[in-house]
Amino acid sequence: MRRMRLGNTQINLPVVGIGTWGMGGKFEADHSRDEEAAKAIVKAVKLGMNHIDTAEFYGNGHTEEIVGMALQRIRRDEVFITSKIWPTHLNWKDALNSIEATLKKLGTDHVDLYLIHWPSAETNIKESIDIMNSILDKGYTRYIGVSNFSIAEVAEAVENSKAPIVCNQIRYNIQDKSAKASGLIDYCMNKGISIVAYSPLNRMEISSSILKKLKKIAQNHSATPIQIALAWITTQGIFTIPKAVNDSHLIENAKAGDILLSGDEMDYLKS
Ligand code: NAP
Repeated sequence: MRRMRLGNTQINLPVVGIGTWGMGGKFEADHSRDEEAAKAIVKAVKLGMNHIDTAEFYGNGHTEEIVGMALQRIRRDEVFITSKIWPTHLNWKDALNSIEATLKKLGTDHVDLYLIHWPSAETNIKESIDIMNSILDKGYTRYIGVSNFSIAEVAEAVENSKAPIVCNQIRYNIQDKSAKASGLIDYCMNKGISIVAYSPLNRMEISSSILKKLKKIAQNHSATPIQIALAWITTQGIFTIPKAVNDSHLIENAKAGDILLSGDEMDYLKS
């Protein structure tokens, strides 16, 4: 598994981590497959995908409990945990409750990275960032970052933050390249803010024309088209966090973290 530096920190994260949206439910808690999901997280970590991405929003809070179940079977220092605060909680009254509840569900005294899940409609960016810095100052997280922020929002966040903004987690995959086209990715990376690509497999909705190209490149690497879709992201210096529960998916995704595409291959996949 290749690793890269997260933002301007000293942390080397695996290029491929594990996402958790849908584990333990999506908008509501679903307890029916808890053990399968917890096992998948443990397996992901053992395969080297030890960057676990979760959020208080997922499964109406239950997903963090599943990550907590997995953490009971792993050493805390084996993993790098990212969680996110939901924008309606991003105010002085609710934010501490959010992070404290997250830590309780995870069974740890800190997360490694805490993100603003989406910009808040009620709290402006300066105040949002002040709140995130106060959570950092309390030692509840080691680093802070943002998610789904535009160029202007990232600029305002950076300008108002005492602590570095280490990442912007955004939707990016070979099917949806809009974050590259808008200049958002280059803007962040030039400022030393890592990009973490979510929905890297576009939730498995990949057009037949793109799939055909992925298959062609896959032959060069004795790999699968899915692995090339992930390597296309990580070759750009971008982290990713595919969600997988299925055993063979986990193995496939972890192995994708070893693949680096050539300049010619990236050109071929450009259009
Ligand atoms: P995704 O990772 O693109 O797709 C997940 C789907 O792909 C699951 O159905 C999974 O199936 C399947 N899959 C995974 N690996 C596969 C493989 N090798 N072969 C075939 N199918 C495979 O979509 P996502 O869950 O939306 O995004 C990933 C993570 O990003 C989320 O889980 C979440 O942590 C994060 N995220 C963040 C935001 C945000 O606003 N910040 C938004 C969306 C997502 P199985 O589960 O059955 O293995």
